[in-house]
Amino acid sequence: MEWLSDNERFSAIEENLKYINSDISEAAIKSGRNPSNVRLMAVTKTVESRFINYALSCGVNLIGENKVQELLLKEPELNLNGCEAHLIGHLQSNKVKKIVGHVHTIQSVDSVSIAKEIGKRSTESGIITKVLLEVNAGSEDSKFGFSGEELFERACEISEINGISIDGLMCVAPICEKEAEIRSIFSNMHRMFIDIGAKKLDNISMNVLSMGMSGDYKYAILEGANLVRVGSAIFGARIYR
Ligand SMILES: *Cc1c(COP(=O)(O)O)cnc(C)c1O
Repeated sequence: MEWLSDNERFSAIEENLKYINSDISEAAIKSGRNPSNVRLMAVTKTVESRFINYALSCGVNLIGENKVQELLLKEPELNLNGCEAHLIGHLQSNKVKKIVGHVHTIQSVDSVSIAKEIGKRSTESGIITKVLLEVNAGSEDSKFGFSGEELFERACEISEINGISIDGLMCVAPICEKEAEIRSIFSNMHRMFIDIGAKKLDNISMNVLSMGMSGDYKYAILEGANLVRVGSAIFGARIYR
């Protein structure tokens, strides 16, 4: 959408949101759920603040950024009243201090050590930060996250840390050619989400199952996602500068 005027981009964003919201409702109903129980996150990495603000004015109430620096830079320019911001990208321990208190949830907790650092900095600030545990659902070498095998044990360790509370799971699924393949990955995530939730452990609530992006959010919802993270389908292809 780079070659379009701002006004043309605003209309495209509005149209895309309408289309995606109706898709989400349809998939939610198909999966036997109320559409209002599936949240749309607008993923705003590389998107300029005026376009994000436009999406917010169209009713977006949840945004996700990948990088601490980018989030902090845009934050003062955004009309975030009534909107939650989440961090969804890999977090380095030296950035934790900067981000704690600026986001509602950190979705990308992928190690016990980063969880400890978030807990420490949150305690210092007198807050509790909600976190999701990132799962490497496709067992890819290139991806962050806990393996399915270690997830439960790590969740128990992390639940002991003061200053954080575990609110669910997230994954970045592999790019799959076949519908059956991607759906089995999402369905496996859903099973872990249900299993861990059923144990009713202290400080672990399986409220949020964050999975599905522009290319696969419908399948993710059909398999139980209640938060989908959509970037390019709303804002157009990303341009990295
Ligand atoms: C970029 C990104 C998304 C959104 O990707 P699209 O394919 O543009 O929808 C979702 N989740 C994470 C973690 C991302 O980094």
